[in-house]
Amino acid sequence: MTFIEVEGVKVDTRHWIGGRRIASDQTFSDFSPIDEAYLGDIAAGGETEVNAAVAAAREAFPAWAARTAPERGAVLRRIADGIEDRLEDLARVETRDNGSLLRSHRRGVMPRVAMNFRFFADYAERLRHPDMEVRGHRQKITYDPAGVTAVITPWNAPLMLATWRIGPALAAGNTVVLKPPEWAPLTASLLAEITHDAGLPAGVLNVVQGTGREAGAPLTRHPGINRLSFTGSVPTAGAVAAAAAPNIVPLSFELGGKSPLLVLEDADLDLAVRLAVEQFDNAGQVCLGAFRLIVHESLATEFLDRLVTRAKALVQGDPRDERTDVSALISRAHFDRVSGFVERAEARVVLGGGPNEELGGLYFRPTILVDPKPGSEIVTEEVFGPVLTMQTFATEDEGFAMANDTRFGLAATLVTADPSKAARLNAGTVWVNCFFVRDLGAPFGGNGRSGIGREGGTWSFDFYCDVKNTVIAP
Ligand code: NAD
Repeated sequence: MTFIEVEGVKVDTRHWIGGRRIASDQTFSDFSPIDEAYLGDIAAGGETEVNAAVAAAREAFPAWAARTAPERGAVLRRIADGIEDRLEDLARVETRDNGSLLRSHRRGVMPRVAMNFRFFADYAERLRHPDMEVRGHRQKITYDPAGVTAVITPWNAPLMLATWRIGPALAAGNTVVLKPPEWAPLTASLLAEITHDAGLPAGVLNVVQGTGREAGAPLTRHPGINRLSFTGSVPTAGAVAAAAAPNIVPLSFELGGKSPLLVLEDADLDLAVRLAVEQFDNAGQVCLGAFRLIVHESLATEFLDRLVTRAKALVQGDPRDERTDVSALISRAHFDRVSGFVERAEARVVLGGGPNEELGGLYFRPTILVDPKPGSEIVTEEVFGPVLTMQTFATEDEGFAMANDTRFGLAATLVTADPSKAARLNAGTVWVNCFFVRDLGAPFGGNGRSGIGREGGTWSFDFYCDVKNTVIAP
């Protein structure tokens, strides 16, 4: 099976290596979370395909690295144009493949995918570090391309997360081997097509499809890669770090979270409720999601009443319907995992708490659990589903202590009349009276178990480049 048709779009199921489509003897089956329908068999790469892709990327590297930033930028801008031209195809295929909302893809996610190329193309052209001076010697700081970048991504926002790394890596002059998630592999194949049509030279971007164990693992231990950008779960990250360690490959890790939404006594209650309801977005399969609601006791009753009313009004169903607010979970295994967390939770269920019986399949009801046992699994582990917990506090010190009581540190949201209090929160991104707003020039990444390093703007180029200091005598 070379091509499959998904939502009327023809998708090539093979790898993209050295500017050519390559098949594999092995395949894996791709299913849709919407109705658990079988979509097709996808090439399952292994060591052989990974070796071929890294070799192609190494071969393509010198010529791509030798181009100027504006020359590379021209190609990246054509890729962005190609993404915009095929926005509807990408949106429909991604929705079918990972079950996230079509309306989000149309309005937010896919435009951002295009921006991931355009923004970093522009940034690379402006990238300068001022010269420094030491004892009369001039120090000239330059950003050299680092080589082959391996990019491994998860299924919850596959194309957005892949291009968030591919955009700066290519803009910096690197070549790339992408291993997309086996639960949502399809849009990576369309991206390969778009980059080819935009004139990206053969071998500059390679896509090896397959499972983490068969295709991901050989990529992470390959001695031919110079940077490794991984987005996914903490347990996988441990295996990836161990595999990459012997080759001393710089790592950028964007991992899980268990972020708090801290509502102080002086908070705007309407806003706090609105921000809490937003956490059901993508059925809670969002790394940044503020799933721990921590609310001042004086506001708790009214906050909960309003939240339950708003959450009950959310429409659950097929993500292709523009009216749908909450869709399905990615797979049966993940559905069972989320169910297990909720069944074991030592907390009072005030909303949901299980499958949506009317819809069946992989639809888990938006769930709110109140007064969870402190330190128990439901408040410490990442559930990655539409499940919020609510805790209350009396003093501000208690509230901040609860918010920071996590091994993660990806994000935190604070609702208060006094933004200066945000300094007390420990996280890579802290939102005050807002959520999810961020410029691509700002640093993004997590503290603690949420990751290693920062990307965005200069931070991306610090990672994807060999930053060089040339000291010139007077
Ligand atoms: P996962 O760790 O299971 O898989 C991520 C990727 O790693 C997949 O492509 C998978 O095939 C690959 N992989 C699995 N085992 C591997 C191995 N041994 N070697 C190399 N690659 C391997 O994660 P997931 O379930 O796909 O995604 C959900 C997780 O991703 C959540 O923890 C979520 O918080 C996290 N996430 C983080 C961010 C962020 O920016 N911080 C964004 C989205 C998702």
